[in-house]
Amino acid sequence: MTIANPPPGDPRTGAGAAGAAARVAGRRQWPLPRDADPKAPLLEVEHLTTHFRLASATVHAVDDVSFRLNDGEALGIAGESGCGKTTTALSLVRLLPSNGRIVGGSVKLFGIDLVHKSENALRRYRGREIAIVFQGAMNALNPVRRVRDQVAEPLEERLDVPRREARRRADELLELVGIPRARGAAYPHELSGGMRQRSMIAMALACDPAVIIGDEPTTALDVMVQAQILELFERLRHTLGLSLILITHDLSVIAETCDRVLVMYAGKVAEEGPVDTIFRTPRHPYTAKLLAAFPNIRADRRTLEVIPGQPPDLRNPPPACRFESRCPMARDLCREVAPPETTMPDGVRVACHLWPASSDGITPAWTAPSRPEVVIGADVGGVAATSEGAGASVGAGGTEPVAG
Ligand code: SF4
Repeated sequence: MTIANPPPGDPRTGAGAAGAAARVAGRRQWPLPRDADPKAPLLEVEHLTTHFRLASATVHAVDDVSFRLNDGEALGIAGESGCGKTTTALSLVRLLPSNGRIVGGSVKLFGIDLVHKSENALRRYRGREIAIVFQGAMNALNPVRRVRDQVAEPLEERLDVPRREARRRADELLELVGIPRARGAAYPHELSGGMRQRSMIAMALACDPAVIIGDEPTTALDVMVQAQILELFERLRHTLGLSLILITHDLSVIAETCDRVLVMYAGKVAEEGPVDTIFRTPRHPYTAKLLAAFPNIRADRRTLEVIPGQPPDLRNPPPACRFESRCPMARDLCREVAPPETTMPDGVRVACHLWPASSDGITPAWTAPSRPEVVIGADVGGVAATSEGAGASVGAGGTEPVAG
């Protein structure tokens, strides 16, 4: 994407969103930061640990989280409310509340560790290299400024683009996300919820970031608008070569949009790997329970699974496995020793004492709940179905079939 100086041969004759996409299509136009390592992964997070200080305690919100985002990849971060998804994302560019602090680990973008950057130095990366689309666009947009001006603001503030050029560019960006230029003069309350969310995406795109983080970007939107926003992300990702991190509790959003999924529980990584592998054969009991709790609109009606109990209090998390009190497979070992992360031969990383359990290093002590007919990306009312046909849930004695 380019802002002020379009590359030679850049098509400028297209109309509508397709034309706008054509104008900005292509790989990164900005030079990498000076101290970047061109051979390094796009984003590499290692042992990230973030705490919140309260008057009487410390909340261990994110604990030893590691993952990698490759160029052009979409990573979904899933889990219940309070599991650390958003704190993980905000930690990447240190947009934490004043009582939040990264106490360990590294966040390397192009090989540059952002954790130890000063606030001033970090401004170079916020918006320009990592941009966030927040949930609830009505709250995120300024209600008394026109949408065009808000989209133009990052260009003026971060890239010193002159106001006139920034506004012209904002119009292009609005068109790119499917908002007619004329609507740029509107105030947020004059736009629909979907258009407001599109405006937020245009704003995130403004500085041509390497990574866009969508924090529950489709929450509070109706299902048709959700589908349109997801389709927009998908189109932008392929047209502009974006790398995405999508935070959601909605597994269908991840099935529809992402290549890899990171399942978090109580501030820690439970399981991580390719979406289709994990959705077909979840290995961590928590992932299996999450999938079993998800409705399947193609199957017969059934009572959804629930995960009994509550997540642990992160002011005083359990010393060993944090899922132990809710896990039907818990053993004494789970109460005494924190499960290490094990990388399986198919690239799935899982933190559970059940893996690997046998001498071949592949077979667990119990039969993993199998969902052999999971449909990835099947369009059902605009939102992907995540499962089809019979599934199974983890039971105390192994797997139990469940209806649907
Ligand atoms: Fe369950 Fe034990 Fe695995 Fe934790 S380590 S998820 S308690 S089986």
